[in-house]
Amino acid sequence: MIGCHPGPRPPVRGGVLRSLLWTLLGLGLVGCEGKPAGTLEPGTHVTMVKDDGNFAQVQTQDGRTVYVPSGVLKQRSQADGTAGTYTHELSAAAEVYRGGAPAYVSTPPPRGEMDILQEQIGLNRLFLSEKSLQEVVAPANTFPTFHGEKCWPAYMCTNPDCPGKDRGREGVPYLFIHTDQSIPNAICPACLEIRNLEAETDEDKLRYRNYPRLFELPETQRRLDELARERKSLYGFLQEQAREREEAGSQP
Ligand SMILES: [Zn+2]
Repeated sequence: MIGCHPGPRPPVRGGVLRSLLWTLLGLGLVGCEGKPAGTLEPGTHVTMVKDDGNFAQVQTQDGRTVYVPSGVLKQRSQADGTAGTYTHELSAAAEVYRGGAPAYVSTPPPRGEMDILQEQIGLNRLFLSEKSLQEVVAPANTFPTFHGEKCWPAYMCTNPDCPGKDRGREGVPYLFIHTDQSIPNAICPACLEIRNLEAETDEDKLRYRNYPRLFELPETQRRLDELARERKSLYGFLQEQAREREEAGSQP
């Protein structure tokens, strides 16, 4: 809370209101805007203190308490061999602030396509362990194991009449895995209970083939949306540049 504390209490002259304002300032409830405190690199390990939605208060490994944009925080992988004292790591470089979330953040210039793609493929995915079906969060571009068990990406079913639709734990859809790599598409085991494979028309088969979707964690979905916006801004920027080049080229 450096730079945020109102300092020694002045002699009461302005009455109750001023006294109340001083108390609120002292509690950090009003008038406390974050000040820039540098940049953290992708992969930096931090421990979550409090997530306020757009910004999260975190503690760095060297003991600093800073505020970072929540979107770049991905939770620590739960796969074998990734134990640690931190709760999250940064998926991209981020400006950080001290004392509070900033009142205003300017949009950073978009990165190149490769940087965006590289971050995207390393975002977290939910996996299920092959036999015990334990949920394991790990980067999507890894092949995690959990207590020695192989893990597979979690799928969900989008069939509105899926018999499994109420079988997921609270807030999470019914999840399953696709382990038979000789079949190109995941098959929902719950839907199998109501399907008659022999009598199915080609249309039915196609419909059931399209129901399963990879399940995206809420933190990943949020970041994917942010990356989509960054991409859009990159393409706008590139188009603008091309237009300027064209105009410069057409000058005599
Ligand atoms: Zn289903």
